[in-house]
Amino acid sequence: MTELLYLDDAYMTSVTAAVEEIVPEGLVLDRTILYPGGGGQDCDTGMLEFDGNTYEIAGMKRISGKVVHLAAPNDIREGDNVTLALDWDRRYAMMKYHTSLHLLAYCAHADFGASITGNQISEEKARIDLGLDELDSEMTERLVRETNELIAKDLRVDTRAVARQEAERLVDPTKTRLDMLPSAIRSVRIVGIGNIDFDACGGTHVRSTREIGAIEATKTINKGKGRKRMEIRLR
Ligand SMILES: [Zn+2]
Repeated sequence: MTELLYLDDAYMTSVTAAVEEIVPEGLVLDRTILYPGGGGQDCDTGMLEFDGNTYEIAGMKRISGKVVHLAAPNDIREGDNVTLALDWDRRYAMMKYHTSLHLLAYCAHADFGASITGNQISEEKARIDLGLDELDSEMTERLVRETNELIAKDLRVDTRAVARQEAERLVDPTKTRLDMLPSAIRSVRIVGIGNIDFDACGGTHVRSTREIGAIEATKTINKGKGRKRMEIRLR
């Protein structure tokens, strides 16, 4: 079982890990700093070093419950120790986008009672799908302005695992449906931004909102009744 080090520290850029298993697609390691993708956020890429040779990690994939580093080194065996290096610029951009979407979702819910029906985060842009019948330019401008105001407040972003009962107390049930989680899940990872927003999340975030800089809306798309998409870029 791969230990996911980015859950405790999203700022680690390099680590040594042992090869647990070699599968046709790549390597399973005892621990990793690379995000495997999920929750709308793209996977990380990086490099792997062994015995003086460097190999590209083209991406990450979950295969049958295993976290696989997509790489094709021909001289590595199970039990070897390798050094992982993260493509930090790509990941850091996604951390900024990801944290921005938390704030945007908070504002959309607080202002318009919007639920979040989807999101997508890449290195260059992000989008959020809002459960709204309408999203005009005035609403979009308001959401961007308020999100940027929160970013400028330099709010601290904390992630921690809490007991399910505690998570249910922290998270607004009209925003996030924790009751949809299987009952066997007793611990939930919560991301808290300042003391304004708490949500369940397994992704990677910046430590403080000011690191984001600012966002701008690039596009809004009508995806049908009760579904409005908003695309953003870091400014
Ligand atoms: Zn998150």
